[in-house]
Amino acid sequence: MTSIAFIGLGNMGNPMAANLVKAGHDVRGFDLVPENLKVARDNGVTVMANAPAAVKDADIVITMLPAGKHVLSVYEDIVAKAAKDTLFIDSSTIDVGSARQAHAIAAKHGMLSVDAPVSGGVGGATAGTLTFMAGGSKEAFAKAEPILQPMAGRIVHCGEGGAGQAAKICNNMILGISMIGVGEAFVLAEKLGLSHQALFDVASTSSGQCWSLTTYCPVPGPVPASPANKGYKPGFAAALMLKDLKLSQEAAQAAGAATPLGAEATQLYALFNQLGHAGDDFSGIINFLRGAQK
Ligand code: NAD
Repeated sequence: MTSIAFIGLGNMGNPMAANLVKAGHDVRGFDLVPENLKVARDNGVTVMANAPAAVKDADIVITMLPAGKHVLSVYEDIVAKAAKDTLFIDSSTIDVGSARQAHAIAAKHGMLSVDAPVSGGVGGATAGTLTFMAGGSKEAFAKAEPILQPMAGRIVHCGEGGAGQAAKICNNMILGISMIGVGEAFVLAEKLGLSHQALFDVASTSSGQCWSLTTYCPVPGPVPASPANKGYKPGFAAALMLKDLKLSQEAAQAAGAATPLGAEATQLYALFNQLGHAGDDFSGIINFLRGAQK
């Protein structure tokens, strides 16, 4: 049994912590929101009064927080108070610069650290099938891997510190762009009198094939489990897609990479969010492309 401190028990953190409890670990959690602490307690997490109390005597510290500034402020608060040899795993999706700063704070205090953002959403967090994209030294990754296992379907060591976040935002930039591409193709097909099913049957087995089409099809019918069949209830909210696209554009600017379609996708998702769809599934952008602005 390992003692794990879990900071950030929101939509993702709570089911992830629950899977660590189920795997037999001693999980001590903290969040700022009392309702989230209640859920954690019901799941078998020992609720602590604050983050430093959760971290005291923990072997592993996992953070699952909204953005880079939250991670850095929590790290400033807890790293110095952790026991020697504690491993820090940050699974939040944050900018690469903040991820590297978080590694630097851990290193300054002689701690190992891993950035390990996830894909798979709340469904994957609950089922314990998340994909983890990890960045950090071989030693840190070797220590993190068995801890991540009960929450994971797949764990990929992407490289040194920050590489996990880099992989996450590159992947989600592909996703944002491809969802708009698939949406545009369905809208064009409608105008040309081609049925959704016919386009799906052709493109899903041809060169247009991609995850946005075959797993997450943005029109109802061809893929019964996709959010389009449930009124575009998320799934993966448009607000989170916009967050990740913005991170990709910050990173592209800092690194000097040309990402014109990433930039365009960011603009389109910003508009979609502004029109009141931040809480809709991101595949609902097809309705915006069709001109339905309600
Ligand atoms: P959330 O807002 O539900 O959870 C974040 C939690 O952090 C909140 O409960 C908040 O109270 C807590 N928090 C903030 N500051 C804190 C502090 N100083 N101390 C303790 N707790 C604090 O968000 P979420 O959906 O669980 O997402 C968490 C992270 O995972 C984000 O970075 C998000 O981008 C990423 N992510 C989310 C999804 C998803 O589908 N929800 C998928 C992949 C990645």
